[in-house]
Amino acid sequence: MRRSGKTSIQQVLFDGLSPRETLYLETTTQSTRHLFDTVIPLEIWDYPGDVTLETLDAPLAQFSTVIFVIDIQDLYQQPIQKLVDFVITAYNEHPNLNLEVFVHKADVLTDEYKIENFRHIQARVLSDLSYAGAEYETIPINFQLTSIYDHSLHDAFSRVLHKLIDSLPYLEDLLNVFCTNSQANKAFLFDISSRLYVATDASPVDPPVHNLCSDYLQTLNAFGPLYKSISASPPRMRTVPVDSSDSPPPSAPASPEPHPPSTAASNSNSRLASPLASPTAAPLSAHQSPQVTHQPLPSASLPRPPHASHSTTSSTAHPSDPNAQGNGNGHAPAGGSKPLFYPCAAASLAPTAAGTGTTLTYHLITPKLALVALIPTGVFQARRGLVEYNVVFFREGVQEICEVESDARKVAA
Ligand code: GDP
Repeated sequence: MRRSGKTSIQQVLFDGLSPRETLYLETTTQSTRHLFDTVIPLEIWDYPGDVTLETLDAPLAQFSTVIFVIDIQDLYQQPIQKLVDFVITAYNEHPNLNLEVFVHKADVLTDEYKIENFRHIQARVLSDLSYAGAEYETIPINFQLTSIYDHSLHDAFSRVLHKLIDSLPYLEDLLNVFCTNSQANKAFLFDISSRLYVATDASPVDPPVHNLCSDYLQTLNAFGPLYKSISASPPRMRTVPVDSSDSPPPSAPASPEPHPPSTAASNSNSRLASPLASPTAAPLSAHQSPQVTHQPLPSASLPRPPHASHSTTSSTAHPSDPNAQGNGNGHAPAGGSKPLFYPCAAASLAPTAAGTGTTLTYHLITPKLALVALIPTGVFQARRGLVEYNVVFFREGVQEICEVESDARKVAA
């Protein structure tokens, strides 16, 4: 739908635009494509509100999911009819298409009206569909309330993503095993830059817990590049030849090769094992207790798991290991020139002397994915070594799944 917030959604999730900056976005008049590469590569197309099946850039059969974005205040006949018409045409052409409806801009209404409008839109769409024909009554459409101003958008889009990841059950199994063996209450495998969770364990997703983990990741994402500029700049360590006319002056800013913020602390020369080695308390979410202490953890320096000799997988690469190679799934540094390094961090929420409370932990799993878990502080303090040990095996499993996904795509291509 026009001006319903489609471009804002795409840019907030994938281009790092802050929600307030979307106020200045122009109305979408042309389709745009965004590539998003996580466990699986995705093409995300943003279409103007007046798009029809004929004006799509590719046949509908080539799309896995269509997300309709409707403004929560659009209760009128016209937008709903447009949505229903599109669903019917799309269903006739591609019955297996995932159909999602984001009832968007939920933040503009109070909780009471929000739910009322959401139910109204859902009921109207479903009744119009059944009125159009009995065969349309059972079209599976998933409705979600979203807003760019809170975490609902990330949660909703993550759920859409899950339907597209064939290896999801395996990732979930790994998370379940990790939670059981580490006594974690909840664990998310996040795509670092978009903060969408590609998988979580079997326990239900409690929105405040999701928000807390997402905020923690955001804080770490903000910290990473700061540490890179201070410590992970090899040129600063080098001796500059005095007589070289074209060499930069000693005071010239270092220019490390670009790499994603998530791997900011991944340079082997970095002296900081954790992005949270700062004494400064990070910004907190509304759900987080003000009493938070950040504990820098050592980098992943655990022994290799028994099957770590797998040809290209080196999940336990240590900064000091010059032979550490990439994992072969597209996440690795090119040519193995830069050893893999896995920063980790922890923040204790409302710490007490008795060790009660909860600890948030972060472990880089691949340069694009991170494990964020909630572990009782007492357990984390007593069994941190065990948690780290479990992470090594978890990482190994995820990297192997990513490799299989990648290999399967190469074969299919
Ligand atoms: P598009 O034409 O569907 O691509 O819509 P835009 O993304 O250009 O957004 C239109 C307007 O809606 C912009 O002013 C955005 O700031 C605003 N907007 C987008 N998402 C939200 C939201 O979740 N809440 C609120 N209150 N405004 C939003």
